[in-house]
Amino acid sequence: MNDKPNSIEARDIAYHLHPYTNAKKHLEAGPLVIDRGEGIYVYDNNGKQYIEAMAGLWSVGVGFNEKRLVKAATQQMEKLPYYHTFTHKSHGPVIELSEKLIGMAPVPMSKAFFTNSGSEAIDTALKLIWYRSNALGKHEKKKIIVRNRAYHGVTIAGACLTSLPANHKSFDLIVPNVLRMTAPHHWREAMPGESEEEFATRLAKELEDTILAEGPETVAAFFGEPVQGAGGVVVPPATYWQKVQEVLRKYDILLVADEVICGFGRTGTMFGSITYGIEPDIMVMSKQLSSSYLPASALMINEKVFQPIMEESDRIGTLGHGYTASGHPVVAAVALENLKIIEERDLVGNAAAMGKRLLDGLNALADHPLVGEVRGVGLIAAVELVTDKASKKALETPGALGALVNAHLQEAGVISRAMTDAMAFCPPLIITAAEVDDLVARLKSGLDKALAALPKEALP
Ligand code: PMP
Repeated sequence: MNDKPNSIEARDIAYHLHPYTNAKKHLEAGPLVIDRGEGIYVYDNNGKQYIEAMAGLWSVGVGFNEKRLVKAATQQMEKLPYYHTFTHKSHGPVIELSEKLIGMAPVPMSKAFFTNSGSEAIDTALKLIWYRSNALGKHEKKKIIVRNRAYHGVTIAGACLTSLPANHKSFDLIVPNVLRMTAPHHWREAMPGESEEEFATRLAKELEDTILAEGPETVAAFFGEPVQGAGGVVVPPATYWQKVQEVLRKYDILLVADEVICGFGRTGTMFGSITYGIEPDIMVMSKQLSSSYLPASALMINEKVFQPIMEESDRIGTLGHGYTASGHPVVAAVALENLKIIEERDLVGNAAAMGKRLLDGLNALADHPLVGEVRGVGLIAAVELVTDKASKKALETPGALGALVNAHLQEAGVISRAMTDAMAFCPPLIITAAEVDDLVARLKSGLDKALAALPKEALP
């Protein structure tokens, strides 16, 4: 790959520092250069076709060549390519999108605020929560509770709320008082014989004990993904969210639903909060908000959050927070059209139906020697890889089995993602039954090839 000095791959190696990539390995391995997209497929610069089984980064809901989004962007570019929303300024697309989102919210929400990435939206949520506590004169109420395996982004605050080691190591995290609970992963974390309900009860007790030990007056908010995504597609156990919410309500702790992955159909309903009966005070959204055609994110806050913030901004003179591109008109126009497509084509219903088909297909692989657990809800799923089903262990180096299977899948024309040893599947919401079946068939062949490539001693 490096032997052609002017190849596109060589130039990538020479000039581009990649996010979430081993920078040293990249010098050898080089990039997979994606050239174009169509439906659920992308094509590399050699013309090879891949099923984009991660919808990019859990995000391209409407597929990779939706002309209506191109048209929406072009029309808005021609009319008003940019305007901001600081100092009382506004414009049609941002007003329409705000109204649309508040109308879609599963619980009464008061206002929408716009940002450009999930991380910025999480950062904003944290800042607004602290601002609110100060507004209420509760200067101690600042601690934040998250779960292990949480992913809430990579800005300084976002990375502090994220609970994955690679986001912490060597980055000198600085947000104090982040409390981490057990991840709600029954297969991995439950005690022998513990039912999902019993496990959920234990986690709610852990939460309550932590709040009491810290002092409820010091705890401001709980951040949670309805289904944890980047931490390995952790589908919560039955009754978990209901029990967690009871505890949070008892101690007047705000609930932030991080819907960055789950929002807009992924779990088979419009929001993960609907799927799990979550009643958040703040909802954070991104990804499928614009199908990632342009960077978009937003949060919604309820009246309980808005009122004190409004008062504090008046006391100070302004709400001193916002981004140059907050509520960007072209982004807002694309998001509106994207939401229209999701509704008109019932892509949420399709996600529910195709999700069931995908899960059935994956479950049919449960007897494969490398499959430890299959989990999922709607159109987001994971296959946890093991070499020893009894001990739930994979190869000695965590992630090595995931990387092996991932390589075979890529060879078979599937872009998936290995999260340590869990393979994630999160295809575009437009996927058809035949495409789901093709994906499962390619996975089976990838698993078989990975199994054949393993040394005999690796298996029990
Ligand atoms: N929250 C969740 C649940 C996410 O999955 C992500 C991104 N994968 C983020 C926040 C951060 O979003 P971004 O990468 O746009 O900053």
